[in-house]
Amino acid sequence: MRSVYRVLLSFSLVVMNAAIPTAWAAGPVVRAERVAPDVWFVQGEAAMGSSANRNFVSNAGFVVTGEGVVVIDALGSPELGDELVAEIRRVTQEPIRWVVVTHYHADHVYGLQSLQAAGARVLGHPAARDYLGSETAQRRLATSREELFPFVDETTRLVAPDVWMDGEETVLRLGRREIVVRHGGPAHTPEDLVVLVRDAGVLFAGDLVFRGRIPYVGNADSRKWIASLDALIAWRPTVVVPGHGPASTAPVVDLALTRDYLAHLRRTMGEAARNLEPFDEAYAKADWSRFESLPLFRAANRMNAYNTYLLMEQEAVK
Ligand SMILES: [Zn+2]
Repeated sequence: MRSVYRVLLSFSLVVMNAAIPTAWAAGPVVRAERVAPDVWFVQGEAAMGSSANRNFVSNAGFVVTGEGVVVIDALGSPELGDELVAEIRRVTQEPIRWVVVTHYHADHVYGLQSLQAAGARVLGHPAARDYLGSETAQRRLATSREELFPFVDETTRLVAPDVWMDGEETVLRLGRREIVVRHGGPAHTPEDLVVLVRDAGVLFAGDLVFRGRIPYVGNADSRKWIASLDALIAWRPTVVVPGHGPASTAPVVDLALTRDYLAHLRRTMGEAARNLEPFDEAYAKADWSRFESLPLFRAANRMNAYNTYLLMEQEAVK
């Protein structure tokens, strides 16, 4: 069934090819970039997930240790997961030992089954248990099977961790490297994990950090998220790989976008919630000029503001 749709889809892309540039028609390509010796990442598009971009809208990374590979996140479909494995194989033949899940959002986890099939054990934080057992997760998968078809379909599964992290920090000691996996949540999600490759000073920050686009706030606890960002800055990494957008070699400056955006949402919506001002009025009157030219502003800002307004109402009554 899937292959029939694939043929149809590629046929329609061929037809469209006559009028549009090839790069767009082919969609973004999973291509590993080196950020430090034996530390790599792949960068998704700054866009909403769709069949046109194959849900390649988030980043993933991998670290070669001399005794195996540790992967961070699995991308947004089994096919992208396979392509990530292929990119790893272009760099090294070492076994793929682990895949660390920074959080259970669709664009980071629908490729897990491919990594698991390639031999990786899935490591996640126990705070993901609630989401994994929830109706919301099942509904989200059902929606994705429609919206992201044929890249996410009935064979795509939500893969739970093989190993649940015990405590707030785990150190994976493999070969010449120490890879520190630390609970960074609750921030963007309850289960956020961040991964530090200690010798290289490379920090994989998951969705605690967005670059080059408006962050996705969802049901996040933005107060704790800001505190977690401050903790990351205090770690003084040399390179930060965000969950979305390019890697940063100037973390203090580059982490500021996410931090300032969250603080701005909290300030404007907090004032409105305290003054019992209706959301629509508060939204219309807020100054968005610093953020409105960023990709996904139109798609995400109003919902982020509304979620923050609700959060600030709750915080106000506490
Ligand atoms: Zn994400």
